[in-house]
Amino acid sequence: MIGTAIELRSTLTCPDCGARTTETMPTDACQYFYDCPACGSVLSPKPGDCCVFCSYADTPCPPIQEASAAGEPTACCGGGAGG
Ligand SMILES: [Zn+2]
Repeated sequence: MIGTAIELRSTLTCPDCGARTTETMPTDACQYFYDCPACGSVLSPKPGDCCVFCSYADTPCPPIQEASAAGEPTACCGGGAGG
């Protein structure tokens, strides 16, 4: 399918203070850490997730979106073998 729209803006929700922040995701790398601007907490991905956007944001990272649109397994950072 052609014309898949990749959403680059994603709204992170801090698990500590609940602050919501809209960030633009990088397309060439995964963001593993994110400093909450509201409370200063450093977020890191949950086990099994590749980046903070997949764990805490309403829109997953671009590689995940592409894989999902193509019907492929969603893994973008070549994380670990198996699961
Ligand atoms: Zn916070």
